Amino acid sequence: MTRFAPLFVFALMVTAPAQAQMGEMADVEITAEQLAPGVAVLFGRGGNIGVSHGEDGTVLIDDQFAPLTTRIQAAIAELGADPARFLINTHWHWDHTDGNENFGEAGAVIMAHDNVRIRLAEGAEGRRTVPPAPPAALPVITYHDGIKLHLNGDTVHVVHMHRAHTDGDSIVWWENANVVHMGDLFFNGRTFPFVDLESGGDVRGVIRAATRVIDMTDDATQIIPGHGPMATRAGLVAYRDMIAAITGQVASAMADGRSLEEIQAMGLTADYAELEGGFISGEAFVETVFTSLNLPDEPDHHHDEIGHADHGGDAE
Ligand SMILES: [Zn+2]
Ligand SMILES: [Zn+2]
Repeated sequence: MTRFAPLFVFALMVTAPAQAQMGEMADVEITAEQLAPGVAVLFGRGGNIGVSHGEDGTVLIDDQFAPLTTRIQAAIAELGADPARFLINTHWHWDHTDGNENFGEAGAVIMAHDNVRIRLAEGAEGRRTVPPAPPAALPVITYHDGIKLHLNGDTVHVVHMHRAHTDGDSIVWWENANVVHMGDLFFNGRTFPFVDLESGGDVRGVIRAATRVIDMTDDATQIIPGHGPMATRAGLVAYRDMIAAITGQVASAMADGRSLEEIQAMGLTADYAELEGGFISGEAFVETVFTSLNLPDEPDHHHDEIGHADHGGDAE
């Protein structure tokens, strides 16, 4: 599961100087996997990239790190595709959007959920420092519920998932090709899920989002996870069930009045030992679940836009 190296890099590099980033990226190779006619996935470092290409133009989903842009452009050309006409960000995290400025300046129209633009424009202070993104990196088309692209013989549905990995997540579903890009609503491999509570995430939203995708897909659906190798719907079902089982157990322990430390000592993640050793430990995940369950549950997204300057996680 070496594809999880990007996550460590993401965590370590947030405050690293640009020169160090270039050095870290020197050995990264972009590899492509064709999923259907006109649909491909690119692996490199950072979030997996989806590609739609054909006579109507190229759509990218996420763009990894800025030092990789020229290699990503070369991989797109090797698919026989034109340079990116549209770029969709599944969420604002740097390992999915750092190439935005390069692709934006090269002419791509960037699209994302409203909150992605807000968070990129403002940056973040706190546990991790993220500088405000330059204007060319910002989405120019933003949406609340989602948007559809009608091109390359397919209908590409971009669907917002409310308060899940962050408060600005979208999944992308190629209706005819039967492919879904999950962004970081799905980590496929050796880690427990990462839920960014500081960016408005909530583990209950991750469960709901996975269930929505499970409901809209079938056994033949090819699923692009945010990180890790390609997956099937059965893999997503197992992932959702793992999160739901742990969340249910944490909820009932909380109802019994147990503290976080007591719940972490219960061994609730022991059944999923194969996920230990990655970016997020079982203990850290249980803390995320515990913290999520202490937040007000907001299953609908009528009041989704960030309304606070501090981005404390409470959407208005
Ligand atoms: Zn990511
Ligand atoms: Zn992320």
